[in-house]
This record gives sequence, structure tokens and C-alpha cells, in this order.
Amino acid sequence: MDYRPLEIEKEIREFWEKNRIREKLMEYREKNNVGFSGWVEGPPTLNGIPHVGHARGRVMKDLWFRWKTMMGYFVPFWAGWDCQGLPVELEVEKLLGVKNKRELLERVGEERFIEECKKTIMRYHREWVEADRKLGIFIDQDKAYWTYLDNYIEREWQYLKRAWEQGLLEEGYYVVAYCPGCQTSLSSAEVGYEGSYVEVEDPSLYFKFKVAGSQNEYFLVWTTMPFTIVTDLMLAVHPEAEYAKVQVGNEKWIMVRQRVEPVMQELGIEKYVVAETVSGRSLEGLKYDYPFKDLIPKQAELDRHPLVHRVVCEDFVDVNTATGVVHLSPGNGEEDFLAAQKRGVPVFAPFDDEVKFTEEAGAFSGIFARDADAMVVEELRKRGLLVSVKTIRHEYPTCWRSHHKLVWLARREYFL
Ligand SMILES: [Zn+2]
Repeated sequence: MDYRPLEIEKEIREFWEKNRIREKLMEYREKNNVGFSGWVEGPPTLNGIPHVGHARGRVMKDLWFRWKTMMGYFVPFWAGWDCQGLPVELEVEKLLGVKNKRELLERVGEERFIEECKKTIMRYHREWVEADRKLGIFIDQDKAYWTYLDNYIEREWQYLKRAWEQGLLEEGYYVVAYCPGCQTSLSSAEVGYEGSYVEVEDPSLYFKFKVAGSQNEYFLVWTTMPFTIVTDLMLAVHPEAEYAKVQVGNEKWIMVRQRVEPVMQELGIEKYVVAETVSGRSLEGLKYDYPFKDLIPKQAELDRHPLVHRVVCEDFVDVNTATGVVHLSPGNGEEDFLAAQKRGVPVFAPFDDEVKFTEEAGAFSGIFARDADAMVVEELRKRGLLVSVKTIRHEYPTCWRSHHKLVWLARREYFL
């Protein structure tokens, strides 16, 4: 037999279309049915043409529609289109040849950008409808919902309002990887994109925080992100590890026992004695003097909180690197944030959308976070708390689009 699938398909499709089979079937089932069976179409994003995976999903839905319809159910099988969000914006930014959001706003402007986005989704919409037609899918394109239309958006707000009224919507923080260039957060998948980790130079800073009320005892801490000292709220030690109080001159520095020799060697300190050892757990709850209370009034206020600027025990503290004493900035790190959240420690995240410090950061107000590194180092030096600062090269994640160094930030979010 001479089997020509394309011709047979065409013949059947034309029969369906000429005789309005789909419309008739739906109209009939709306009036004559044994029940209602339906779902809301999960809308594909109109930022590209459908691929074979989309076709597979749509054919499955179509089979389900036909099967239930033949069983006698009325199945409203209506299309829906996701028209917004980063996928569409990125597609259009690529088309316009702009590198980031600021360039987009300056060179293109918001209104034209929105118009271009609409043009793009309409172009892809034609492709999708044609693909559905060729697949013989009985989805109702006329009743499609579009996420960019006002009536859809208004309904979204109504849902949110209801959720808020019922106490289902909560405002809070979550720590996200954030690109200062694109001014948007990145998903963890995006942070892991190939080529996003590059070798960069950062400060390698050893500094001291004084144990409150002590004469000469200090925690020795290491960081590659000095700016996070602005948002520091806790120190963490490992509960199971042994910590040493190391006599250096007339001071005692607290650090994990097993790292004393390598750290002293790195710092070029030859004269030191391990004066005493204690368990990590015994350090829990110790208060330390946060050094920038005069520069950051908000930190002085937070300092009065019973859990702020104290030592906590955390299993994630790595005792095989640096000093085994980690400073925690819930506003700038995911583990830090979770450690704060489980203890009810507040989050201090004084950053605007460009990752510049806000007025809450006092003397640091208006400075881009990563540019504050040098100022933080200088302020530590003035206070006699700087032990050593060098530069290291290490692998650090950058934005896969704009190649800016990413910053981890606690951002205000809503949780449903
Ligand atoms: Zn970026």
C-alpha cells in the first residue's frame, strides 16, 4: 500500500476544519455530558518556537481531552500563554543588543521595550498555533488566556489580596545570588552555569573581634569579603572542635587548635604559645565587641538584641581552613541567614537594587558593597583590629550574562 502520512494528515485536518468538528464536539459536550472534567492549561512561555518536548506534552493533553470527551465529560480545553518574565525579556534584550537593564532603560526605554516584548510573543504565538494545528490538537485557541492582559493581572492581584486577608501571605527575607549589573537574582541553576566560575582577585583579610569584657582576648577571623563586616551579626564555631587561646604578644587569640601552626606561619608570626584549649561548645553565647557601632547606628541598636554579636555553634563551620571561627552576616549568606533564622536573630540587609549600602548602613551609605572592602579594612586598621590583608586569586561565581561578580543578598520576598 502506498502510505503517505502527510497527505492523510492534511486530508483529515481539512475535514475537521471544514466541518468544524472540534467546535461541534465542544458545543455538544457542553450541553450533553455526564460531568465536568477540566484543568487550567499550564501556559508555555512565548520566548521561542515549540520543540519536540512541548509537542509531546501537548499531544498527551490532547489524548486526555479526547478520552474524557468520548467518555461523556465536558472538558474545557483552553489554551493559555505565558507572556512575561525573564525568558521573554532576555530574548528581547538579545534582539535589541543591550547588555543590562540599565542600558536597556537608558537606550531603549521602558515603553518601547514592552512593545518589543509584545511583538516577540505575538511572533512566537503564530508558530505555536500553527504547530498545534499540524499536530491536530483540539485545544481552543479562541478562549486562550494571556498573562500580560490587564484582566489576568487584576485577577492575580485579587488572589494575592485574598491570600493576604486570610493570613496566607507572609513577608520575609530570603538569601539569593544577585547580579548588581542585571539587577536581578539568579537561580541556583544559573549560578552553576558553565563558565560562570572565573578566577578573580579578592582581599584575604585576617581580623580580630574582641571578647566583650575581656582584657586582651580576641577571636581571630578570616574573610575574602570585608564588606560583609558591615552586616555582621554573629560568630560561629564548630561545637565538636578544640579551640586554642594563642598567646601573641600580650594578647590571646581564639582559633581552632588544628589550624594554629599553618595560620601563624601564613601570618609570619614566630613567637606564640598555645596558652589554653577549650571546646567549641564552651564558647557558645560569648559576646564580642562589634567594632563599627559608631559608624553604623543601626548596628548599635541591633547590638542591644540579646542574641546579636554573640558566638553560636554550627556544624557547617569548616575547621580545615582559615581559623575555624566564621563571622556570620545573615544579610549576605545563605548559611548565615539560616543560622539567624533558626535562632530568631534579625536580618540586617541595608542594600538597594544596585547593591549599594542604604542609609541604614550609616557611614557606608551610598557605597557599592564590593567597593566598601577597602574602607572596612581601613576602619579595622584604625581600631587596631587588622591582623593582615593580602590579595588572593580564587574561583568565584560571576553572572553568566554580564560577568559581574555575584553578591549574596537577603532580599525581601513574599511567601505563600
Ligand atoms: Zn548580570
